[in-house]
Parts: sequence; C-alpha cells; structure tokens
Amino acid sequence: MMFQDKVAVVTGASRGIGRAIALALANQGAKLVLSARSLAALDDTLAAVKAAGAEAVPVAADVSIEADARSLVAAAVENFGRVDILVNNAGITRDTLLLRMSEQDWDTVLDTNLKGAFFCTKAATKFMSKQRFGRVINISSVVGEMGNAGQANYCASKAGLIGLTKSNARELARRNVTVNAITPGFIATDMTEALPEKKREELTQQIPLGRLGSVDDIAESVVFLASDRAAYITGQVLGINGGMYM
Ligand code: NAD
Repeated sequence: MMFQDKVAVVTGASRGIGRAIALALANQGAKLVLSARSLAALDDTLAAVKAAGAEAVPVAADVSIEADARSLVAAAVENFGRVDILVNNAGITRDTLLLRMSEQDWDTVLDTNLKGAFFCTKAATKFMSKQRFGRVINISSVVGEMGNAGQANYCASKAGLIGLTKSNARELARRNVTVNAITPGFIATDMTEALPEKKREELTQQIPLGRLGSVDDIAESVVFLASDRAAYITGQVLGINGGMYM
C-alpha cells in the first residue's frame, strides 16, 4: 500500500484513463476525490473504488470554471484533511481542420484541457505548499509533442500543459511539490473508439510495439510518479506511446 494516509484528486474520473487512474490509486490505499461534470457519470467509478476498499467522495465539477476547481480541493480538505496528489486528467477534443475551426472549438478545448489544469493546480498547490508535500501529474498527449493535422486546438492545449508542468515544477520544487506530465500515445478508450476502424489500423502501424496502449499502462505510471520512488523526478515529460514518438 503506497498511498495509505494520502489523499488524491482525479479529474475526469468517470471513464477511460481517469477511471483507471482512480482505481490504481485506490488499490494502493489512497483516499479519493473523484470528479467529472456530472455526479451520475461517477457512479461506476465510485462503486469500483469502494469495492477496492478505498474511501472516496464524488464531486460534480467543470474544471474550466475556477470556483468548481476550488470545490474539488475543498472536498479533499473537508473530507480527508489534506490533498497530496492531483491528477489533471479531464480533457476533450473538438477536431477539425484549421480553416473550419471556430473560435468556440478553440476556446472550449483550451479552457478544459489547459485552463482547467491551471485552476486545479493553483487550488491544490496552495495546500500542498503548506504541507511541504505534493504530487501533481498532468495528462498531456503525444500529439502535444509531435502535432497532428486536424487537432490544432487539442495539440496546442497539450503542448501548453507541458509548459505549465515545467514552470510549476520550478516554482514549487522548494516546497517539495513535484509536477510532471505524462504524454500518452494512442490509448484504447472511448476517445479512440470513436475513430473509424481504418484510421485505427493506420495508427497501429505507426506504433513500434504494434498495439494501442491500455488505460492501465497510463495508470501504472501515475502510481509511480505519485509514489516515493519518484521523489527526485520533477518537471519531466514521460512518454507512454509504444515507441511511436522518441
Ligand atoms: P474520455 O473522453 O474517455 O474521458 C474524459 C473525462 O474528462 C471524462 O470523465 C469527462 O467527464 C471529463 N471531462 C471532460 N470535460 C470536462 C470538464 N470541463 N470538467 C471536468 N471533467 C471533464 O477521455 P480519455 O480517453 O480517458 O482521456 C483522458 C485524458 O487523457 C484526456 O486529457 C485526454 O486528452 C488524454 N489522452 C487520451 C488519449 C487516448 O488515446 N485516449 C491519448 C493521449 C491523451
């Protein structure tokens, strides 16, 4: 049990990668604040986390609204007395070619993926700094490193998250708060399930390890970065992409 007495906030915990992260932290004894935009969406994750023996509180929050982001951290502090681990996982896509991309397509994606992480980190690290302990893990994307046609908004948000990670890592290191990013490649989730079969096959051909990643591939790395084993790692970008980008 790596996280007994540790409290984690996971955004976008209702499904996919966020759900797997919540469960992996629960399996290591963490107490959890689970967040998604609606409470009903969290039922399944909440049941799984409780079945693993963890204490958990579900909170409906839109991370792109600062008051909501603050309420997540407040839920951790009010229910469990502290906040040790923040996983900024909530993310969306609004893919289209640049010339068709509306201002709203741009703003919605940047507001959720980048501003949301800024708001949650600002709220959580206020407490982490006082505690002299914290782990912030930002779920970016391989396309934030390499770009992707039709995803200018998404790639910009994920590249921005890497800059946010490094700046926050420098700023918070003296308080023993580490900040790292994970850049998943193509992971089998609802997000990639939405792609046409032919597109998925083309993508798989670009991956040296010859398969899409699993949500557990990402969750295990979050557990590592949140653990004492990663105490001397900060400001880093961990690519988990089957070798598709090196
Ligand atoms: P998903 O669509 O299955 O889940 C996204 C989660 O984010 C949901 O719980 C949703 O409720 C939540 N969410 C969306 N907007 C929100 C908002 N404004 N406020 C709060 N919560 C919000 O996605 P996924 O595939 O599990 O991806 C999770 C993260 O990993 C995302 O940040 C995504 O960009 C990133 N990622 C995914 C892949 C992939 O292949 N699936 C690859 C690279 C990076």
